[in-house]
Amino acid sequence: MRAALLAAFLLVGCVGFHPRDPEWRRAKSAAPDATDATAVRVLPRSQWQVIGSSVEGRPLRVLRLGQGPRRVLWVGGIHGDEREGAFATAELPRAFAALPGALEAVTLTILEDANPDGSQHNTRGNANGIDLNRNYPANNYLPGDSRGEFPLDQPEAKVLHDLVLAERPHLVIVAHSWRKDHFINFDGPAEHLAELFSARSGFRLKRSDKIAPTPGSLGSWIGHKLKQPILTLEYERGTDPRSAWMDTRQAILAVILAE
Ligand SMILES: [Zn+2]
Repeated sequence: MRAALLAAFLLVGCVGFHPRDPEWRRAKSAAPDATDATAVRVLPRSQWQVIGSSVEGRPLRVLRLGQGPRRVLWVGGIHGDEREGAFATAELPRAFAALPGALEAVTLTILEDANPDGSQHNTRGNANGIDLNRNYPANNYLPGDSRGEFPLDQPEAKVLHDLVLAERPHLVIVAHSWRKDHFINFDGPAEHLAELFSARSGFRLKRSDKIAPTPGSLGSWIGHKLKQPILTLEYERGTDPRSAWMDTRQAILAVILAE
């Protein structure tokens, strides 16, 4: 009974949340059925929860903290050979929970690793050799050997896609790394957040038009199709993950709490 009431509440909430944004509503209508989305929501918080599995059967895990109205999704990595954000992902729950008022202001969802097979094998793509950050139903999606035959034909991409549509985050942050450079990139209405991140970390703000096209990327899907803010955090490749966290800790917490 309690679950049914909560499900009804969540459904009502979903319908009314973005009244001026038909893209979100269309996206929501294509989401997994409400039972799936609700199941994600009602499980106890502050425990890692498996929400899907990779090609090779490794779990994709999320942790939820707080119950505030602002919803933020942190993705600890999507390219398996870019694990510089792993320490930040491990430390973020404690740092976030220790901030006064954070748990009341924000619901933070952490996806530990969107590509656990790639992390295991130290490959950019998943076990099928597909770059998961090119497998999203963005307007610029292009099929290809490294991008999949069609959007979301890779299980890891589908899991994160469904998580985004279930959570409807106000901000998504994804950790990556870049050869011989570090910067913060954004898509969608996130320029002010990228500027805040830059100010607190010293990371240069690098615009998407200064980077090679990324068809089917999360930034293209979330930022340009769903029109929601997304930050792509590029650590310098090879940075000690502990240093990476220390260098960006204040900036990460600032954008999580920002409006
Ligand atoms: Zn990357």
